[in-house]
Amino acid sequence: MSKDCLLLNGNGKPVSYFPLSVINWKTAIKLVLTRNVILLREHEDFVVHSPTMEMKVPSILMLPRFHKFHNYVKFSRSNVLLRDMYTCQYCAEIFDKKDLTLDHVIPKSKKGPSNWENVVTACKACNLKKANKPGTPIKEPIKPSFSSLLNGYTFNSDSFPDKEWSKYIFQS
Ligand SMILES: [Zn+2]
Repeated sequence: MSKDCLLLNGNGKPVSYFPLSVINWKTAIKLVLTRNVILLREHEDFVVHSPTMEMKVPSILMLPRFHKFHNYVKFSRSNVLLRDMYTCQYCAEIFDKKDLTLDHVIPKSKKGPSNWENVVTACKACNLKKANKPGTPIKEPIKPSFSSLLNGYTFNSDSFPDKEWSKYIFQS
């Protein structure tokens, strides 16, 4: 299992949620040794050795001050699927991530842009059927707010390498 480290902002919340601000253990150790970060928790069962020292791998690190990162929602495949709740915007069925595609409402060939307002989630069948014609999605596509995406998102806490992460991720 990977022993990643959760990186928190100075306010005790993850620096980012989409994707979750997780760093690998080597980066985490480097931060602890070279930067002014606050070590909140270590992986009890993961110790690394060097010729001169041994160290438990950090599980949760916090930045000493609050940094304003843009909580803007990145336009990406996974965030479009999340906005549309994995629902095909033409047949209204819910699909598995892997069975969904992104569809340009106004097709690319008709100069339809790749942005929040013109790209929707579509199942493979609907995407094929629609082909190069403009479509009418069931919900008008808009740029989602950060909080609306967060509400629709389910973190899989079983995948966290440390159960303590939940305390920081699920706090309101
Ligand atoms: Zn469909």
